[in-house]
Amino acid sequence: MPEKPAATDYSALLKRARAKVPAAVGTGERFQMPVVELQTEGKTTVVRNMEDILDKLNRKEDHLVPLLLRELGTAGSYEGGRLVLQGKLTEDNIQGRLAKYVETFVICGECGRPDTHLVKEERTTIVKCDACGAHRPVKAGPKKAIVKPEEAVVEGKTYEVMIEDRGQRGDGIARRDRYTIFVKGAQKGQQLHVKITKVTGTLAFAEIAQQATQQAAASQAAKDAKAAEAEAAKAATAAAKPAAPGAPAKPADAGAAKPAGASGTKPGPAKK
Ligand SMILES: [Zn+2]
Repeated sequence: MPEKPAATDYSALLKRARAKVPAAVGTGERFQMPVVELQTEGKTTVVRNMEDILDKLNRKEDHLVPLLLRELGTAGSYEGGRLVLQGKLTEDNIQGRLAKYVETFVICGECGRPDTHLVKEERTTIVKCDACGAHRPVKAGPKKAIVKPEEAVVEGKTYEVMIEDRGQRGDGIARRDRYTIFVKGAQKGQQLHVKITKVTGTLAFAEIAQQATQQAAASQAAKDAKAAEAEAAKAATAAAKPAAPGAPAKPADAGAAKPAGASGTKPGPAKK
């Protein structure tokens, strides 16, 4: 049986998933950073959805584009709703610069909404918020840190999702925010807890973490309570007996079995 090259599979998958990701952003109450859609054309990198991004940010290309070009350190032009950039640039790079622009010129410093407009006052540009009325001058330099909105899908985390579709390779497909999640071994119609194993752009890959959601939560809570109880009991024992080298502490319980004085959580009558 001839082996299909994995890369072809992946790019086909990527293409298909990208097409399925809904473009709607910014309609909810929570601000979502527009996501750049890139395309490489010869020696240029094209942001295909530039017009859409400008719309969502309520900014004009003659403001955003020159700033973006300067930040990216490249030449480019806005043509027919697309931003054509010289050179091959990565999605992370462009997305990062866009995020910085949004942080600096769009987001209200008070309420964090994007419903703002820019006003020139003498030589200062002011970001005025249409939602709460606050205004702030645009700072020339970068702020202390770009506060990224919390991503809806983070590698290593577990989420409850609904499998809405079936992928080419038999994986279940779920959606969460702007992410498309491919869940290994999941069936359409299942409601699952899935653990994210990998995130690539707006695509995520996951494995099933738990099927019985409520049961799992309940048993986990019970486990936590039990563990806390055990720890409290051990701490009490440790405090009562100043030194208990003979205590049969299992290695797995080493943390809990430590003398109370070492953990610092139980002041108790520890040995002096
Ligand atoms: Zn505001």
